[in-house]
Amino acid sequence: MSRQTMVAGNWKMNGSMGSIDTLMSGIKAGLADTGDTAVVVCPPTIYIQTVKSLAEGTKIEVGAQNLSAEAPGAFTGEMSSCMLTDTGCKYVIVGHSERRAYYHEDDMMVAKKYVVALEAGLVPILCVGETLEEREANITEQVVGRQLDAVIALSGVDSLAKGVIAYEPVWAIGTGKTATPEQAQEVHAFIRQKIATLSADVASTVQVLYGGSVKGANAAELFAKEDIDGGLIGGASLDADEFLTICKAG
Ligand code: PEP
Repeated sequence: MSRQTMVAGNWKMNGSMGSIDTLMSGIKAGLADTGDTAVVVCPPTIYIQTVKSLAEGTKIEVGAQNLSAEAPGAFTGEMSSCMLTDTGCKYVIVGHSERRAYYHEDDMMVAKKYVVALEAGLVPILCVGETLEEREANITEQVVGRQLDAVIALSGVDSLAKGVIAYEPVWAIGTGKTATPEQAQEVHAFIRQKIATLSADVASTVQVLYGGSVKGANAAELFAKEDIDGGLIGGASLDADEFLTICKAG
């Protein structure tokens, strides 16, 4: 089964009007060499519209890093799903490990956000992954399985085909410690096998990205693995040349 490769940049809480302009110009300048790879950037919410304008006429799609599970109303500081679609977002990251760890988003909250995103017509990028302690305790599959089960229980296995999954081992995020291609492939294969017990069709079509210290230098060997369909990129997505090298590795 050949699935389209996707490279999504998670800019996290970084950037300014000036730096975003420079970054987008750099990415656009090298876009022609990225082949069929889908290229997505996820800026801080306040810059979404600016980035959307800068991306106009290119294949770059824009995503948000988070959304509220609530409908519009009295939720100070939050962003609803319809506001994201209104400003031109196509994607939204849900369940990033930083949201789970710092903002106490549990599996149920992440599952709710996944559903709310789909209902608004957004494509959720569902992040799953184990901490170092969990890997060392040999419960990686239990943890990733539990995170997936929460979404499946709330919205059904078919809903996974409408989103993207990102396997992001927490110990590899922003640490410079990338999972080896074999370690990553092992969990990606587990994810696909687990989904296949419910739907072979969804298992073979869903895009599963790897995230965790992906760089220009290691992207190609990761993306060459059978079940890895691209990457969710943090730090390296803030440098146009590095990001483009990763996009070209797809
Ligand atoms: C991330 O935060 O999604 C991520 C993968 O970060 P980094 O590439 O910096 O490890």
